[in-house]
Amino acid sequence: MRSLSYYRAMHADMPLLYALQQLDDVLEEINQNLASLDPGRDIAIQLKRQRQELEEIKRTHAELEATARDQELELRSLDERIRQAEGDLYSGRIRNPRELDALQHDIDALKRTRDRMELQILSVWERLETQSRQIADTEAQLEQMEQAYQRHLVRYRQIKSALEAKREEHLAMRNELAQRISPSALAQYETMRKRLPPPIVVKVVEGACGFCHTLLTPYLARQLRESSELVTCESCGRLLYQEELASE
Ligand SMILES: [Zn+2]
Repeated sequence: MRSLSYYRAMHADMPLLYALQQLDDVLEEINQNLASLDPGRDIAIQLKRQRQELEEIKRTHAELEATARDQELELRSLDERIRQAEGDLYSGRIRNPRELDALQHDIDALKRTRDRMELQILSVWERLETQSRQIADTEAQLEQMEQAYQRHLVRYRQIKSALEAKREEHLAMRNELAQRISPSALAQYETMRKRLPPPIVVKVVEGACGFCHTLLTPYLARQLRESSELVTCESCGRLLYQEELASE
């Protein structure tokens, strides 16, 4: 039984404002969680770098392959020249000893060039093999990163849509609740919420402001009991809500 119901009591919307604040706190937390969600930018950057690296290795690999092909052609043409020179040497057509000496000298020089070229080709092939392994390794890494990225994206989208659904639900609840609050009280709460760090609506605990713990003056306590206006803490300026005074 509320013997004081004869008096005008605390602002009737205080319990609703208090509930609204709780919804706003949840909404703020949801928004913060949404803002701090990682859409995988770091992995995406790493992926891009790795792809560029792979392209670079492939490009030098293709260049080296072209070099190898050129060297093979050169080697074959050297072989051909040596074969022709040796053909001339043993054909019996050339009889002049000096010409024969010169020809033999040419053949020796060609063979030395050929040997050098063969060594070069060998080292190019070794490099090509090393690059092939690098390409395979990088592709395998890329594949793994790609999968990790996809998994991250799936998780990110799941969490994001769950949070967004929760936000929608709470926004609907908030709108519904806000409609039941008098526009002036709602406006005051909303203005204060922009100006002050939460909480805005504070419960009175043992005769003191639940936020800054300043004891309510007898005047304020009386105002809370008997006035239907919004009452603010004299010290921190927050809206005071005395739960025991709430009807229902
Ligand atoms: Zn206070």
